[in-house]
Amino acid sequence: MALHWLTTGVAHEIRNPLTTIKGFVQLYNQEDNSVEYSELLLNELERIETITSELLSLGKPLAIKRSRLNIRELIENTVDLLSLQVSMNNIQFILSVEDSPIFITCEKNQLKQVFLNIIKNAIEAMNEGGEIHISLRKSSDDACIISFKDMGCGIPEELLPRLGEPFYTLKEKGTGLGLMICHKIIKLHSGSIFYQSKVNEGTLVEISIPLAI
Ligand code: ADP
Ligand code: MG
Repeated sequence: MALHWLTTGVAHEIRNPLTTIKGFVQLYNQEDNSVEYSELLLNELERIETITSELLSLGKPLAIKRSRLNIRELIENTVDLLSLQVSMNNIQFILSVEDSPIFITCEKNQLKQVFLNIIKNAIEAMNEGGEIHISLRKSSDDACIISFKDMGCGIPEELLPRLGEPFYTLKEKGTGLGLMICHKIIKLHSGSIFYQSKVNEGTLVEISIPLAI
């Protein structure tokens, strides 16, 4: 929790001056002809911006508000948010959710962030397009399982333990914070996350969250 306070606090403090600097660089970019350096500066600034935004998505601890929620709705909302992005990437969502409502106790925005980060990774892993299968079911032990299966590049087995490690990324413009944030949020919900993957075939990510009592 202490780390949580620290990171979101620091992220806030960094982001405000960053916005000012970025504005000025953009202004110089228009007036000046030293475009080369401005581009470089803007790229670096954008990177810091992405990192701070990702850290901020953990949310302010004080703002955390848990509620009882039908998880199916949250999944459907998240999928809707990404529908344009997937169709532009030649990707299709295949949803399979149980008809009966499944209630969990959660912080809605945090959990939505988890789904977004996982689906974004799936999209980024599928350059050629394809299907992302998302399913929701009850498991036997008073929990529900949300699974995401892509047909992307996959992850070599020896790298699976590194997922969720801060700043671990194989992407040129990646931050390596997406899964770290997912792991933290899932832990805050007393849940767990599991990965299974095959290089050039795809990846399965399964999240288990306890049902509301
Ligand atoms: P980022 O997306 O910024 O790189 P993440 O924490 O979201 O950071 O993911 C860390 C790394 O895990 C990614 O760079 C990628 O190599 C790997 N990864 C995560 N999800 C998938 C996936 N569905 N398919 C292939 N690789 C993945
Ligand atoms: Mg990511």
